[in-house]
Amino acid sequence: MFSRLKDYFKDFNWVSGCFIIGYHSLLLALVPLYCYFFTPSWTILTFAFIFYFISGTSITAGYHRFYSHQSYKLNNKFIEFLLLFFGSMATQGSALRWSHDHRIHHAHIDTDKDPYSVKKGFWYAHLFWMFKKQPEIDTKIVSDLCKNKMVMFQENHYLFCMLFANIVPTVLVGWLTGDFFGAFVFVWLFRLFFLHHSTWFINSLAHYWGHQNYSREHSAVDNYIICMLTFGEGYHNYHHTFASDYRNGIRWYHYDPTKWFIWILYKLGFATNLRRTQESRITKQMLLNHKTELLEKLKNSISSKKQDLEEKVSECTDTLVQKMAEIHQLLDLYKEAKKAKVAHVKELYKEIKQLKKILKMKWKELHFLTKSIMRLQPVAMAASA
Ligand SMILES: [Zn+2]
Ligand SMILES: [Zn+2]
Repeated sequence: MFSRLKDYFKDFNWVSGCFIIGYHSLLLALVPLYCYFFTPSWTILTFAFIFYFISGTSITAGYHRFYSHQSYKLNNKFIEFLLLFFGSMATQGSALRWSHDHRIHHAHIDTDKDPYSVKKGFWYAHLFWMFKKQPEIDTKIVSDLCKNKMVMFQENHYLFCMLFANIVPTVLVGWLTGDFFGAFVFVWLFRLFFLHHSTWFINSLAHYWGHQNYSREHSAVDNYIICMLTFGEGYHNYHHTFASDYRNGIRWYHYDPTKWFIWILYKLGFATNLRRTQESRITKQMLLNHKTELLEKLKNSISSKKQDLEEKVSECTDTLVQKMAEIHQLLDLYKEAKKAKVAHVKELYKEIKQLKKILKMKWKELHFLTKSIMRLQPVAMAASA
């Protein structure tokens, strides 16, 4: 029995495991105790929310989109210091380790090499992977970050950085409100608990429940609830399909505060080289992905017009892909011609108008095709009926 127990704990990550279990237990004991004797003030709760937002954005804009994916450049060391400081406050390990694991996650998604593969189970991806000893950092994967002095300082003094970044705001809030106990319970522990589980949902829920709008080749999904909790990281299917884009929510109305934050940094002159995927590439990918989805659905459905529908889907999506590429090209030409005030601007405009009409018709056709295919009865259901 002892040897089995020994085997079980051989791979146990004592530091990470004890910390997670320890602070959850402490929180479970202290919240009821605090609430029994006191009432948490709105000031304390507001500070907890503010630090949740700041430390969370430092992970998404700093650890994730800046260090892991290099989706933009920073030319201000103080901003980088702040991202690392509040990233330390988020207590998710060093930027070097975080980026290392995340780059492996992208390169080997859904395989055994993926450190938090959802294929090993929802709770494994959410939490239990951290209870397992992780392999040493392979410096080849993060060679760029190994040259960054600030990243290496945090890596070499992580415990100090993490404690300092948590103690300073907690003591400050305690001093401002006169409630050190409340600051410890809500600004440190409760904020950490909420932020941890929100971030961990990206590895679990955002690979489990949602829509595959851009690709069906990996488990990542777009989930709008997670976007609300994680500062825009819930557009995870898009992110895994176009990982170098500084945005996760690409439309102006998509809730992605991280992209707005990076854009503000850019406008203030602190960030440059914001990487965006070309609109034409995104549309093409969406259409091809939709085509795969419809053909898959048709394959598993009962219909006498199966072959006819398959041909229609292929014809409609292929034409749309081709026409969308044409219109993007024409729009670029039109912009240039308008700037240069050349004579054929009007002809280009007419051509675009004509193409837009064809596109409108094709989009309508695809919409009706989608509706009728989605209504088809699946083979399994028909067999059991
Ligand atoms: Zn992922
Ligand atoms: Zn990523």
